[in-house]
Order: sequence, then C-alpha cells, then structure tokens
Amino acid sequence: MEKIIVTSKFHTGHRQLGYPGKCKYVHGHTWHGKVMISAEEFPRDDIDMSLEFSDIKAVMRFMDHKMLVTEQDATFTNPELFEPEGVVVLKGKGPSVENVAYYVFDGVVDVIRNQYPGRNITYTVEVTIQETENNIFIVEKTVNI
Ligand SMILES: [Zn+2]
Repeated sequence: MEKIIVTSKFHTGHRQLGYPGKCKYVHGHTWHGKVMISAEEFPRDDIDMSLEFSDIKAVMRFMDHKMLVTEQDATFTNPELFEPEGVVVLKGKGPSVENVAYYVFDGVVDVIRNQYPGRNITYTVEVTIQETENNIFIVEKTVNI
C-alpha cells in the first residue's frame, strides 16, 4: 500500500444563509485541508513520480481569498455585484464544511482522472477539512480510475 498526503491552508469568506445564528452573516475562516490518497501502487510517470502533488494542492488553493457560496446565494452569484473570479460556487445548499470537503474530493478525483485516465486502479481518497480549531469534517471514499 502506498499513500500520498498533501496539506494546504486557505482563507475564505462565507455565510450560512438560513442558519439561525451568527454564521448567517458574512465571516471568514482559515481552513486547513488534508488530502490523503492511498492505492496498492500508484501509477508512475517517466521519472517515477506518481500523482502531481501541486495539482492536488491547487484544488484547495483555488478557494484562497474567495467567497464560498452555493447557487442559493443570489447576492454573491450576481456578477453585477461581485466579480465571479472571486467567488467559488460549491455544490449543495450552503457553503458548509461538509460541502467544502466534497468540493475538494471532487477536484482531487478530477486530478487523478486527468493525469492517469483508465488505469483501473482503486484509490481511497480521504479529505479532511478543518473549519475552526474545533470543527472538522472528513469524507473518505473509494474510486476506481
Ligand atoms: Zn463559518
């Protein structure tokens, strides 16, 4: 078994529309992300490197200094009010730590699929996202690519 771990930190704004507490107001977090990928044996390129670590990190860094929203947020998704390049639209009903983790998970799967398509390799991808000192969400799934 081989494992790859990539960590990154990113600063974003978000708000939880519909939340009955202070999180409904725009605020920021410094998120800590950790991606762990395991496979029996990773594919290798011509110089024996496996997955491109910087591409995995870039999935997380793409959110840095941006506003995280979902389609429900009519204010931040209005290009007349906010520059679209400063907004990341996540899947789901709110920019929760859960949906940030799934955004990273989907991006990491795309990185693997783009770099080594159709190899029939089973990867376990675990994404850990820490929103605050006390709040952490982990998604772990197996994919075959
Ligand atoms: Zn928050």
